[in-house]
Amino acid sequence: MKRILNKTLPTIALVGRTNVGKSTLFNRLLEKQKAIVSDVSGTTRTRNIGVMHWRGTPIRVIDTGGLTYEKEYLFEEEVIEQSELALTDADVVVFVVDIQTGILPQEEQLANRLRKLNKPVFVVGNKADTAQWRTPAMTQSSMALGFGEPLLISSTAGIGIGDMLDVVFDALPNIDEHQSESDLIARVALIGKPNVGKSSLLNAFAGNEEVIVSELPHTTRESFDVDVQFEDKRFRIIDTAGIRKKAKVTAGLERFGVQDSIRAIDEADVALLVLDVTQPFSNQEKHLISMIKNKDAGIIFVMNKWDEVEDHSQEKRTELTKLTRVFYPFLKWAPVMFVSAKSGFRVHKLFDTIEAVAKEHARTIPQEELEQWIVGVTRKHKPTIGKGSRKPKVLAFEQVGTKPPRFMVTIKYNTSLHESYLHYIENRLRETYGFDGSPIFISVKKFRG
Ligand code: GDP
Ligand code: GDP
Repeated sequence: MKRILNKTLPTIALVGRTNVGKSTLFNRLLEKQKAIVSDVSGTTRTRNIGVMHWRGTPIRVIDTGGLTYEKEYLFEEEVIEQSELALTDADVVVFVVDIQTGILPQEEQLANRLRKLNKPVFVVGNKADTAQWRTPAMTQSSMALGFGEPLLISSTAGIGIGDMLDVVFDALPNIDEHQSESDLIARVALIGKPNVGKSSLLNAFAGNEEVIVSELPHTTRESFDVDVQFEDKRFRIIDTAGIRKKAKVTAGLERFGVQDSIRAIDEADVALLVLDVTQPFSNQEKHLISMIKNKDAGIIFVMNKWDEVEDHSQEKRTELTKLTRVFYPFLKWAPVMFVSAKSGFRVHKLFDTIEAVAKEHARTIPQEELEQWIVGVTRKHKPTIGKGSRKPKVLAFEQVGTKPPRFMVTIKYNTSLHESYLHYIENRLRETYGFDGSPIFISVKKFRG
């Protein structure tokens, strides 16, 4: 299994030592789009990601902090890995230097590292605020880095940014924005309260410890969705604030993101409701799950941390599944999977289940088949009266939508159908056709005729 970033976006990585102005530049690039970037101090040490637009093209910008070769800054290994990963993901590298202080030895070291990438590297001389800094004497030391003349800018004053972007833009690959939509198996949302293992699961999906793409400071709706590839199939994991690692960023960013969960589920074909199997069902969880009632997405219960449970027997699984049904009867059709994001146990299996659910979610039953089917169903159990005293008669039954499947029962004008009869129809539909993991909606239309 290998992972790919959402390669629909061309990507620029900002690298350079501390204090040259990378985050100032990053903010400057993104603020043009009114994107909200992290204002939490110290975030330069983790990766900062945002999407900007230039000449109508969305471009991902990654600000890295861990590639400085500076002895006085000891970065966590993870930060260094993240920065290395940013280099791997980047199409173009922007090497930011401070034109006022000139080049330091660690920047030469960094230059050697960047040369090995075989990617376009542009040296950007920042802090060229006034003409005195834009002289050949000033640019000379940057030339020694071996990437040609520096592009001079001032991130604080906003000078030279557009010219720099024009140069960088020309080196970006032309990536067709829509190329990747068509062969997606499903858009997947990871939903659940904090600490259940959503980010671990994302990493496990990606099969690579380093892929904490979403372990990143927030932005608004610029999507950092992550595409993961399993065998020859592609799944898009929709980013939610809940997936971003909370420990790394200052508290406050990582509140329990119900709204994010709702938004993610609205965009998803399939939502994975991640639960910690070692914890009892909580009210917080109940609240979240009640909010997603009647949403369109397919749902799979993912009981994570299965490695922590001693009893791995089928009986235990059945018991926990039953408990889930008791707590969430309105999701009785959602498959329940037992996995361990930590050990990877049955994580691959989830892809199969997601695919199966996505299929059911998009399923269409031929109309002729439904017409025959409803005759048998109504014969077996006559429609029950809702309000009034007239006996309802089902005149027609048809599928009126997919993703998820929607059906319409047509009854006689001045009659009404008891709510329970719709449940009856739903149960029969599931019995005959499955629709495992997908909600089904049935509406009633009255026909005068
Ligand atoms: P980073 O560590 O590379 O992310 O650097 P920061 O963006 O945190 O900037 C370090 C310092 O340089 C801050 O005090 C910035 O205000 C300052 N700075 C950034 N860009 C410019 C610029 O274009 N001109 C001047 N004079 N100062 C700048
Ligand atoms: P999130 O807040 O839902 O994104 O949760 P995280 O992925 O950050 O995980 C929270 C904690 O649970 C971390 O300490 C993980 O190492 C741990 N964890 C996640 N998945 C598993 C698992 O399958 N088994 C065990 N034992 N621990 C896990």
